[in-house]
Amino acid sequence: MRVRTAITGAIIGLTFMAGLAMAKAPESSLRPVARPGSAQIAAAPSAEQAMPKVTQPETRPETRPETAVQRPKSRPAASTLASRDARGHQTAPKPPRQESLAALRPEAGTERKGLFRSLRPLLRPRAVSKKAVARERELARGAVCGDVAIQGVEIGAVPGKLNGCGVIKAVKVREVSGVALSQNAVMDCVTAKALKSWINDGMKPAIGNRGGGVSRIRVVAHYACRTRNNQRGAKISEHGRGRAIDIAGFTLRDGSKISVLKDWNKGGKGQSLRRMHKTACGPFGTVLGPEANHYHKDHFHFDTARYRSGSYCR
Ligand SMILES: [Zn+2]
Repeated sequence: MRVRTAITGAIIGLTFMAGLAMAKAPESSLRPVARPGSAQIAAAPSAEQAMPKVTQPETRPETRPETAVQRPKSRPAASTLASRDARGHQTAPKPPRQESLAALRPEAGTERKGLFRSLRPLLRPRAVSKKAVARERELARGAVCGDVAIQGVEIGAVPGKLNGCGVIKAVKVREVSGVALSQNAVMDCVTAKALKSWINDGMKPAIGNRGGGVSRIRVVAHYACRTRNNQRGAKISEHGRGRAIDIAGFTLRDGSKISVLKDWNKGGKGQSLRRMHKTACGPFGTVLGPEANHYHKDHFHFDTARYRSGSYCR
């Protein structure tokens, strides 16, 4: 037991030193151990220092050159070898003394194969995940509002021409949760996040598998410094504050379309539209559709203005 502990101790020490040395000069650090003949002598003193009571020095020097010789052939990375090293040496003293050499030698060949085999699963996912990592980086680059699902560019302050217009920190949104917007839409981050919530929890479930799902949302208005419904003398619209988006329809992955104007209250598409309208009430404070007034017969108006009375959805 003491011998094994001492051997393990010496090996951990050697592995650590070898690991340190290999980072700089792997060839030279291995050579003293790997050199046949001199290996026994070279290795013995260092081992002796660590454990003076070892009575069978022949098993260790034999096994060490064996594995050390393979090392230069199969050296893929210092870190891999270091861990592999530690494992190999810890198990080496286990078999009975007489059989240990014979048992270790045939294993040497298979061990090498095993080493390569064990590396493959490590390398393969790395290659596959490279694409995923690249995609992640691309998304991270285009992310706005601190959310990779919201892709676009930050545009900062948007000054308004009319009193009450403008956005302090605006973003121009191109895509949300993998769904493209037909035009880049300027809004604030609260609105962009509300849009994302609705797309994921309202729009996508409402469409389901129809046409393969939505590929593009037809945006007909976003930021615009104007009064409500463009009526002279009316209050500034939420569009003028970057808090609103108008959606007139959807293009599905199979190319088919859903239109608020044409499909409201008609068949399956109509049901989907009604569900989309209903689920927007919550993420958005104001939701207007064809049943609100004639201004909205052809689009949904969603905005993030909140009133004391709560959401306004018609
Ligand atoms: Zn609107």
